[in-house]
Amino acid sequence: MEQVNIPKCQKCNVGDLVPLSDFGSQGSSILYKAWVCTNPDCGYNLKIRNGDIYINEPIMSGVNGRSRQSQ
Ligand SMILES: [Zn+2]
Repeated sequence: MEQVNIPKCQKCNVGDLVPLSDFGSQGSSILYKAWVCTNPDCGYNLKIRNGDIYINEPIMSGVNGRSRQSQ
C-alpha cells in the first residue's frame, strides 16, 4: 500500500477525508469523485461530478436509483 497524504476533514478536524472512485458499468472510469469524512459523527462528504461540486449530499437515500451493496 502506498502512503497517501489524506487531508483532514475541514468540518470537524477530527476525521480524515478519504477519496472514493467510481467506475462505469462498462468498466471505464467515469468523472465521479467523492470525498467522505471518516468520522461517523460528522458525515461530511463532497462529490465532484461532471464538474459540479456537491457538498453534504445525503448518502443513504440512494443516488439516481443506483443500487449500492450494503456492507
Ligand atoms: Zn468531518
